[in-house]
Amino acid sequence: MADSPIRKAQPGFRWEGVETLRYKDEGSAPFRDVTRQVLFHEGDLHCEWRYFEVAPGGYSTLERHRHAHAVMILRGRGHCLVGERVHAVAAHDLVTVPPLAWHQFRADADSPLGFLCLVNKDRDRPQLPDARALAALRRVPEVAAFIRTGDEAGG
Ligand code: MN
Repeated sequence: MADSPIRKAQPGFRWEGVETLRYKDEGSAPFRDVTRQVLFHEGDLHCEWRYFEVAPGGYSTLERHRHAHAVMILRGRGHCLVGERVHAVAAHDLVTVPPLAWHQFRADADSPLGFLCLVNKDRDRPQLPDARALAALRRVPEVAAFIRTGDEAGG
């Protein structure tokens, strides 16, 4: 299989030879019910292509960093925060996360949210919001509602 350029799709948004990993180490940052698959990580590319899946009601970490993300929703429905706006997203929508924009993805309660995420191979570590950043984000009512769970500060 290592010789083949093809890794076949398998049922359930999985691919031959691709491991389903934890999204992040438990306790390193707040998130709920997210898996990660690294689809492309070859030496000749200066980027990585990952597939994340958020289970119904789950969410990715609220974070920001200098590197950008190019995202295509591949499965399901949910909402994403980018900067100071919350957007409904569904399969095949494209999402641009610019440098230093706060961002978070949430699956709807009754749907998973799976998305492809293209990212630089060399990239800075995500920053989590401190109390001041959270207070600033919460000044926008729709953002306050979006980050409502109360565990975004590390609990
Ligand atoms: Mn990110």
